[in-house]
Amino acid sequence: MPGRRQFLKLFAAATASGIAGGSWLSQTASSRVIEWKNWSGSQSCVPRARLAPATLQELQQLVASSNGPIRPVGAGHSFTPLVPTEGDIVSLARLSGLIEHDRASLQATFHAGTRLSAIGAPLHEVGQALINMPDIDEQTLAGAIATGTHGTGAGIGGLPSFVTGLELVTATGELISCNQEHNREVFEAARLSLGALGIISKIRLQNTNPYRSRRESWILDWDETLAQADHLADTRRNFEFYYIPFSARCFLHSHDLTEEDKHATPVHDPNESLHDLKLVRDYLSWSDTLRGLPIKAIAATMDKEVVVEASWLNYASERNVRFNEMEYHLPRENGLDALREVRQVLERDHKAVFFPIEVRFVKADDVWLSPFYHRDSLSIAVHRFHQEDYRPFFKAIEPVFRKYGGRPHWGKLNTVSAGEFAEMYPRWQKFLAVRQQLDPAGKFLNPYLASLFGAAI
Ligand SMILES: Cc1cc2nc3c(=O)[nH]c(=O)nc-3n(C[C@H](O)[C@H](O)[C@H](O)COP(=O)(O)OP(=O)(O)OC[C@H]3O[C@@H](n4cnc5c(N)ncnc54)[C@H](O)[C@@H]3O)c2cc1C
Repeated sequence: MPGRRQFLKLFAAATASGIAGGSWLSQTASSRVIEWKNWSGSQSCVPRARLAPATLQELQQLVASSNGPIRPVGAGHSFTPLVPTEGDIVSLARLSGLIEHDRASLQATFHAGTRLSAIGAPLHEVGQALINMPDIDEQTLAGAIATGTHGTGAGIGGLPSFVTGLELVTATGELISCNQEHNREVFEAARLSLGALGIISKIRLQNTNPYRSRRESWILDWDETLAQADHLADTRRNFEFYYIPFSARCFLHSHDLTEEDKHATPVHDPNESLHDLKLVRDYLSWSDTLRGLPIKAIAATMDKEVVVEASWLNYASERNVRFNEMEYHLPRENGLDALREVRQVLERDHKAVFFPIEVRFVKADDVWLSPFYHRDSLSIAVHRFHQEDYRPFFKAIEPVFRKYGGRPHWGKLNTVSAGEFAEMYPRWQKFLAVRQQLDPAGKFLNPYLASLFGAAI
């Protein structure tokens, strides 16, 4: 029988889980039994405590009184070991929502723990919309900017490039606010900082006027897709495509602004399609030709899908088939050559892979640690079903990405070392200097981040 104390801890944890989508304790309680896992299940740890402060003051007090390590967590949707720690994991799930907005500049400030799915509606009410969104909206705002999360759009940067200011609780518990004019260096570093500078409490975003988008999805063969990809990327507001392995077919998506009334054709469910692709793999992976036949046959029956909706309801989809992922951002001019080679390696040596290869376009930005820093990019993502070993496939693909000058997504699996990152990022040393100044004792580091930032913990 658990004692009264143990019972209360478990009860508190169970109650808090309703708030944060996991098991969270008040900031004073502590337990070694509540494991933390990321979305795909590939990263886990048993932290000292999982904390969810209810106010900014509680957050500051918690940070000031801790000797560390402390790792902020969002929705746990990163694949890299950014969060695992034996110290405290801190969620801002209780610090969520719109704080204030400015009609003239189309800017708005949110609590950092706000999920992307909880941004669209309040922004719409005040006459604003996010400029772009990724393909799911489960992430928190702070978690998304911390890793350089992006959508697609050759003329649109990643989410950190929308940030015009933020507030950060540093290692001493002090609150620093920063933007282009004030604490400029901290701002440049903190816009994409992997939770390594402190805990971001508020984020101000440059938004746009509310808009309705026309989302089109259609099937095209591989050669035609590659021939049209650059043109489509340059002429559609948002354009991306998926290559379906062993089929020579691609699934294309675009978004454009429209004044049309809302309407929708029937649309396929991407999760159902993944189950179908897995089934085909399970039964037919012994013959490339046979495997391609049912996919091509189904593709031939698919009509163009159109959904006209408010932008914030039209980007994200639900992903309930879990996977592990590697994504690299390549100089745009190298992207399609890299893609050809990725397809070749996959279809020659990794026949168990059934997830489509995702291809997106992102505009250059000036965020210090952004993979899009000063370069227009084409992003390629490969996936493996969460119950299957991703390592052999990713190990074969990563050298292709590296050969074409790729920089990895900070939240997705890669084996890039500190020295290699230092060569990829012209502002790497400046970032290290800001980190050292804000957190000399490494309170916000875990072993992975310490290995990147050359600090002892
Ligand atoms: C199904 C799926 C779909 C995805 N789709 C896309 C996509 O379309 N585009 C894309 O670019 N990425 C995509 N990703 C990756 C995802 O957007 C990033 O990994 C993102 O960081 C996850 O946000 P999160 O809230 O889950 O943060 P977490 O994964 O929990 O944390 C990420 C980082 O943010 C830090 N952090 C969290 N909160 C704070 C805070 N308050 N202050 C400081 N640091 C903080 C953490 O310490 C950590 O370093 C996808 C991931 C999954 C699983």
